Amino acid sequence: MNCRICDEAGAHARYRAREMFFGTGETFDYFQCRRCGCLQIADIPADLGRYYRADYYSLAPAGTRQPSRVAVRKRLQSHLLLVDRTPVGRAAAALARRVFPDAYPVQFMPQIRDGGLAALDEPILDVGCGSGQFLLALAGLGFTRLDGCDPFIAADVAVGPVALHRADIGDLPGERRYKLILFQHSLEHMADPVRALAAARRLLRNDGQIFVEVPVADSYAWEEFGTDWVDLDAPRHLFLPTRAGMARLAADAGLRVSRIAPMSSMFELLGSEQYRRGIPLRSPESFLVRGVGSVYTKAEVERAKTLARTLNVPGRAGRLAFYFRSADTAFGAGPDAAFQ
Ligand SMILES: [Zn+2]
Repeated sequence: MNCRICDEAGAHARYRAREMFFGTGETFDYFQCRRCGCLQIADIPADLGRYYRADYYSLAPAGTRQPSRVAVRKRLQSHLLLVDRTPVGRAAAALARRVFPDAYPVQFMPQIRDGGLAALDEPILDVGCGSGQFLLALAGLGFTRLDGCDPFIAADVAVGPVALHRADIGDLPGERRYKLILFQHSLEHMADPVRALAAARRLLRNDGQIFVEVPVADSYAWEEFGTDWVDLDAPRHLFLPTRAGMARLAADAGLRVSRIAPMSSMFELLGSEQYRRGIPLRSPESFLVRGVGSVYTKAEVERAKTLARTLNVPGRAGRLAFYFRSADTAFGAGPDAAFQ
């Protein structure tokens, strides 16, 4: 079987993984490319939609209530933090962060904080948006042009400045060009990631950026836990790339990697250890359902937190963020590349 990323043929290592999010008991064969190291499912199930029940992460209802009118203060805060790069603006943002630490959720959103946005009305597209929770959060921070697409949602939805389209990115209607396109744990669900990234490049403004967060196989989590790795998420994750595999995908899609950031947390350690013990993530015993004191003691959680911090470097982290730009623009290539 040929690697779907680099086309390498031949004897790749094979693995059998269990469905463990819901714990259905089904198994699926995966293989790891001997050249680029990308893990991938051997046969893509014909009926994938069946594995996205309504309680799968991103499809949980986000509510369809229009975000209440965005307070002037919130809008000003977002403006200061994201847009105003003048020394006075920076100082004001730093001061405001100290005075209102909780009012700055955007500082915990690296995809937005480092997305190179220059105004709150610059268009953002969230690919694989699910029920639109993330976009609704951005609307609440003052962003005004927010689109999402996801083939697994029930219907198109429009809520205030947020428009969700029931579509693959390749089938999106309209002519809008985006400053920032997000794939937040969605690319690994797609049968043809090059096609998806190439579609994103066509929708990208010249000065735009694509943010892709994915689980990666060149990581401690895969080495340590193998098919119990929580982010393998069989059969929904069709491929789990490596840094080399992502560089290859980017080149094939007309993109270049401008930056890589580690995004690990203790979840990948605790989730994987739980799978090793045979407990599905949605099980009533799961630490996600019952919290500390169920599967894990407080001390175990603390240890996982510490280990996750030391693992949070490229080459060890189980999750990475890749920032892409169009290969045929010089934007972000120089030393003055914003926020890098
Ligand atoms: Zn390969």
